[in-house]
Amino acid sequence: MRLLLTNVEVFGEEGDSILVGKGKILSIGYEDRVRKEGLGGKTIDLGGSTVIPSLHDSHAHIPVLAVNSVELKGVTSLEGLRVKLVRAVRSGNKFIYGRGWDERAFRERRRPTRWDIDDVTGDIPTVLVRVCGHVALLNTKALNQLLNTYGDRIRDFIELEDGKPNGLVYEDGVDYALKLIPKPSETEIEDFIRKYAAEYLSYGVTHINVMSVDYELLRILKKALNGIPLNAGVYVTPEAAELIADKGLMDPMICGVKVFADGSFGGRTAFLREPYKEGGRGVQLLNLSSFKNYFELASSLGGQLAVHAIGDGAIENVVSYSRSLGINGHRLRIEHASLTQPDIIEGLASLNPHVVVQPHFLVSDWWLADVIGPERARWGYAFRSLTEAGLSLYGSSDFPVEPKDPYLSISAAVSRGMLQKYSYSEALTKEQAFSMYFRDPCFGVSMLKGGRRADLVVLNNSLSALHGYDVSAVKPLLVVSSGRIAYIGNDILSKLF
Ligand SMILES: [Zn+2]
Repeated sequence: MRLLLTNVEVFGEEGDSILVGKGKILSIGYEDRVRKEGLGGKTIDLGGSTVIPSLHDSHAHIPVLAVNSVELKGVTSLEGLRVKLVRAVRSGNKFIYGRGWDERAFRERRRPTRWDIDDVTGDIPTVLVRVCGHVALLNTKALNQLLNTYGDRIRDFIELEDGKPNGLVYEDGVDYALKLIPKPSETEIEDFIRKYAAEYLSYGVTHINVMSVDYELLRILKKALNGIPLNAGVYVTPEAAELIADKGLMDPMICGVKVFADGSFGGRTAFLREPYKEGGRGVQLLNLSSFKNYFELASSLGGQLAVHAIGDGAIENVVSYSRSLGINGHRLRIEHASLTQPDIIEGLASLNPHVVVQPHFLVSDWWLADVIGPERARWGYAFRSLTEAGLSLYGSSDFPVEPKDPYLSISAAVSRGMLQKYSYSEALTKEQAFSMYFRDPCFGVSMLKGGRRADLVVLNNSLSALHGYDVSAVKPLLVVSSGRIAYIGNDILSKLF
């Protein structure tokens, strides 16, 4: 059907009307002219709302295990944590998997240990992953399973208290702990993915890059999204990449391989040039030779290498490895790039990789200055300096670490969230912040131009009338993805039919 949208602001373009038909944007301009081309179509007066290109989330996860998990975000005390666990035990779970605890939100301001939860979880193995995903708490039952199964591989990743493991594990320890959790059924995962896709489309997100996907998830994802207008590109794990390369299982959904150079600030595992305020420099998970191997693996699949690098030390290393191997440009993605002093920005700019950032960390990492000091916090999430150095930034959520809602994230990039006082000079304009979400490294750019495929979002508000921080309340009225209506808000339903 032909659809003529009038009385709109067209993001970045001249005109007040857009004509859509045959899956394409047919025309953009002022109503008199566009109307002549739109004869016979349906006209909707949108009362001054803004139309934007559809949005992309360049780094998200599909937390398969979350299908049956206990939500621990928002828990404010150790007692609150125990109450959640008591409920999980009562509901008959054979294994308890929880996600999202943050000791900084606890009244007690300390990390829980297995001795805090053993009496309520008893014989039910329990794995509780911290909000950052790089630290987990295991009860004694799960810890014993972990040590019996993977003991020698995780020796360096368990925390000791008076010489005894206290149940906290890091990095590889978390990966192996997650392997203990029984997988949900394929049908459960498919249902989960379809709900996940519907939620993304309701935000006007039509393209996502899914990170750290294994071969099994790739297969299910493909099946679950069949017929759904959410475009998903995947970055597989190195193990999956080897399997795919060996067995010739190439798939058009594959955009590259994702690896880790370090951990997170929350876990004190992001690798820093200078120590954390409480000591330690974090962990290094790559060296020149593993970086080279991963890059070759990604290239053998015709994809990019996406490197998780948060600390300045980790980013500096990736820059130096890339230089010595002659790798540059968009064959490389840097995920997060959280701490970038001017010399690191210069190094990055000389490589010019895709830089994939998560503005909502500005809200969640409100404690950053406590951990690395205010001088370094100044260079946390330095979006403006990175942009001015000529780097292309790509916006993303890192869901489930941060919410899927892109408007919350865009608003944080403009307001600087909780880190305003350290780095307000790094604030982006509303236009810059939105632009980071109109593109992704895998699919390219959504654009409002005559002749382009219709990937667009009608918002419930006029963007030019809103202050940056008000963007968080924006909602889509109508979402068109690949020329198909992918979401219709209640406010517009009656006007359409
Ligand atoms: Zn991630």
